Amino acid sequence: HKKIVVQNPVVELDGDEMTRIIWKKIREELILPYLQLDIKYFDLGLEYRDKTNDQVTVDAANAIIKHSVGIKCATITPDEARVEEFKLKEMWRSPNGTIRNILGGTVFREPIVLERIPKPIPGWVNPIVIGRHAFGDQYRSTDFVAPGPGKLQLVYTPTDGSPATTMNVYDFVGKGVAMAMYNTDDSITGFAHSSFKMALAKKMPLFMSTKNTILKKYDGRFKDIFQEVYESQYKALFEKANIYYEHRLIDDMVAQAIKSAGGFVWATKNYDGDVQSDILAQGFGSLGMMTSELITPDGKIIESEAAHGTVTRHYREWQKGNETSTNPVASIFAWTRGLLHRAKLDGNDALRDWCLDLERACVEVIDKDGIMTKDLAIAIHGKNMKREHWVITDVYMDKVNARLQEKMAARAK
Ligand code: NAD
Repeated sequence: HKKIVVQNPVVELDGDEMTRIIWKKIREELILPYLQLDIKYFDLGLEYRDKTNDQVTVDAANAIIKHSVGIKCATITPDEARVEEFKLKEMWRSPNGTIRNILGGTVFREPIVLERIPKPIPGWVNPIVIGRHAFGDQYRSTDFVAPGPGKLQLVYTPTDGSPATTMNVYDFVGKGVAMAMYNTDDSITGFAHSSFKMALAKKMPLFMSTKNTILKKYDGRFKDIFQEVYESQYKALFEKANIYYEHRLIDDMVAQAIKSAGGFVWATKNYDGDVQSDILAQGFGSLGMMTSELITPDGKIIESEAAHGTVTRHYREWQKGNETSTNPVASIFAWTRGLLHRAKLDGNDALRDWCLDLERACVEVIDKDGIMTKDLAIAIHGKNMKREHWVITDVYMDKVNARLQEKMAARAK
């Protein structure tokens, strides 16, 4: 076969442990044999991050800005134990945090839905794509323990010298707790753009949830900004794509999500997203089937990765020479989702079709052939799982490769 020509580069960010092993096999066996692709490679493995004083992470983020597509392997976020294990110069910050600070934008998680895997919510036949506004609110709040009786006030002092506003919050008669939190119009507006862009990319309706009945001003501002941005810039595009946007009260939204068949994008506030994204991850079966895409407010840049970590437990087994059955699907989708964005930017239909073939091959080997890694076999068989119900990672990936080749041959006819 002739390789598919990809006109513009993509940025690859290599990672750590079990996912690094799998990542190499994906690149060498599922990507490079089929695509003529200019890869700008950055090694975000912890050793090299340490060697470069984490400069490699910053360089990778800037390369993503330049080339618009980042495809990332899972990486270790060091803690004290990792500092000791790798003899690190410093406890380097989370690469994902560093990259997101440079690119901006919002992370959306999307599950890959399988027919064979029993779901706690059987109705979820389509994915629910969830985006979390990862700025402000509880995560940047000032919280406080009141040691005894006292007056709690909130003071806003305008920079322009006009008079300060003092709000009485509470008169404590005994001990208690208090908190102040904030958000900004800029950040909420960026979040709104990223959410509308993601809904358009997925051709799915968008819901944004708040508790604006209680937080009339705070959450009301979120609702108003989304509505303004929608009406001024996206309504016509949404109508053309046959999708829509609506604000939902968080409690109504949770009820609706449970009763739904999936198939929508859900933009959540910071805390709601923290909680709800874990509920959704459980609801669709395995972390090995959850993808993650960061999209910038202008919709130009996508960075894609698996939502899971480096699967350290499996890596320890691999180091001992034991067989490992780690699910590679979300890592493969990190490549296809990044390349799909490349295909969209370049107007490259052959690349788009090839990406979709590879995605379908991953799903069909599980759903049609019944060949899968251990995490999925456990989800199906539970305690009754036997060795014959699962295969090691390499065997699953070889089956995916064979199915991909069948699909490519069928297309070539
Ligand atoms: P993890 O996602 O690696 O594993 C969590 C659990 O899910 C484990 O029981 C694991 O066996 C299982 N699991 C996850 N992915 C799987 C897959 N593809 N196939 C089969 N089972 C899978 O998270 P962790 O154990 O908390 O963290 C391990 C390392 O990963 C840490 O060093 C952490 O810093 C890093 N991490 C990185 C990212 C990222 O790069 N985005 C995200 C989370 C954790």
